[in-house]
Amino acid sequence: MDLGIKGRKAIVCASSKGLGLGCAEELAANGVDLVMNARTADVLNASADRLRETYGVKVTAVATDITTVDGRAEVLAAAEGTVDILVNNAGGPPPGDFRDWEMDDWNAAINANMLTPIELIKAVIDPMIDQRFGRIVNITSGSVKNPIPQLGMSNGARAGLTGFVAGLARQVAQHNVTINNLLPGQFDTDRINGLFKSRSEKEGRPADVIRAEAEAANPCRRIGAIHEFGQACGFLCSAHSGYVVGQNLLVDGGAFNSSH
Ligand code: NAP
Repeated sequence: MDLGIKGRKAIVCASSKGLGLGCAEELAANGVDLVMNARTADVLNASADRLRETYGVKVTAVATDITTVDGRAEVLAAAEGTVDILVNNAGGPPPGDFRDWEMDDWNAAINANMLTPIELIKAVIDPMIDQRFGRIVNITSGSVKNPIPQLGMSNGARAGLTGFVAGLARQVAQHNVTINNLLPGQFDTDRINGLFKSRSEKEGRPADVIRAEAEAANPCRRIGAIHEFGQACGFLCSAHSGYVVGQNLLVDGGAFNSSH
């Protein structure tokens, strides 16, 4: 399917690898110019070079921390004017026991996974409204629908973003500006492998056994691939998704079972 967004301009945050990279690649494959971002310059530049060379789109790489005021300003400046598509993403908070978390830990999680996307939305949304096109996708987590006990900070911070977006999405939809959330289940990224490792250390069992159990428990009998996540993102960013508003789309192989 032609997504109808060739020549558009996107910011994809936290996109040197993992789910953000999957989204950036799908947009590049559909002719979208990109501002990509992550903190580690060499990994980011390697991914940006690959997408630029493979798809022939303009790719600007901005090595900065998207959770800081200055980092967001750098990324927005690199976009040079109106942004058509914004994919919000950042690293997820660490797992643990809430008794060990201090206010600073909570503030970091809320900043990264709630306030940072809201600040970026605030920066880009009015020009989107003026031009009657905008697509905003927030990468959140399956934990929004099915909270994961050991990821309490993620559960809490993402719930805040989800509630905010539910309201704003319905205020801007009339202008052909959509905001939706994409909820990953388990995808093959450094993040999920880190979580398997952390469980392995806690439970005293090999990480590959924990991973095999996760695969066996999924209706697809596997962990997701980042391009599959990117393809779902591509549709939400497409010209054809203007009537998909304020949704929380689970991409989890059917792991979460609910009839509504
Ligand atoms: P990942 O493979 O570890 O990739 C994270 C990406 O974000 C990297 O490019 C990383 O690069 C960048 N990043 C992290 N913090 C950043 C910051 N402060 N500023 C700019 N870039 C930053 O992680 P992932 O699995 O793709 O996860 C992405 C998001 O989805 C996370 O919030 C995660 O919690 C959530 N999620 C993932 C899964 C899963 O199965 N993978 C499931 C549910 C939710 P640098 O480190 O160089 O900055």
